Amino acid sequence: MAKKKGANSVKKGKKAHKKTVRVKVNKFYEVSGASVTRKGKDCPKCGTGVKMGSHKTKDGQVRYACGKCGTTVWE
Ligand SMILES: [Zn+2]
Repeated sequence: MAKKKGANSVKKGKKAHKKTVRVKVNKFYEVSGASVTRKGKDCPKCGTGVKMGSHKTKDGQVRYACGKCGTTVWE
């Protein structure tokens, strides 16, 4: 005998589309008028243009890590 669906079963509706998440590029650049100032730390090994990722630790220290060469700098 087939199980009868209870009254609790709710028809699943279509899920609402999630809004597209924009990549925060402005996190690295700040436009003021006609000039653009670059935020963030440059890698000492790779040179200007290679940004380092900043990671905050529980102790309040900030660790910068380069994704290109792997250099880590504590601050
Ligand atoms: Zn680097």
